[in-house]
Amino acid sequence: MLRWRPFPHFSWDLRACGRHGHATYAPDEPDLRDRLHVTTAAGEAWRCLRCGDFVAGAPRGSGPADDAPIVLRGRALRDAFVLRLLAVERGLRGVLLIVLAYALQPVLGRAGVAAEGLRAGPCRWPSPWPTSSGSTSRPAGR
Ligand SMILES: [Zn+2]
Repeated sequence: MLRWRPFPHFSWDLRACGRHGHATYAPDEPDLRDRLHVTTAAGEAWRCLRCGDFVAGAPRGSGPADDAPIVLRGRALRDAFVLRLLAVERGLRGVLLIVLAYALQPVLGRAGVAAEGLRAGPCRWPSPWPTSSGSTSRPAGR
């Protein structure tokens, strides 16, 4: 199956790390700490929990592994971006409909559509059930 990818080298993980910074964490457990930490000629480097790159410098957080930040990555990160985009679109659509209704209110009022409905009073439907006199309340001739 051939998949069309307009940006074959695009990574949602790297985009998020570029916007928010790498999510490096130093766990207290020695075996996990050794897996996330390396020593380079430039100093220590920690592995990013989101993109997996090793980043030189001190970690952004430290503590027990259970307290490590939960970062979205991969498809979950893309889905979160799409959901936020849809929420913004829905919000803009709602604002547009409110502005459109407010702008059309004088036009509809002049045409008498809304005013006629208010002047006529509550709507009364004829009852299909016979009354005590034996006739329905439908108008004669129908
Ligand atoms: Zn990263």
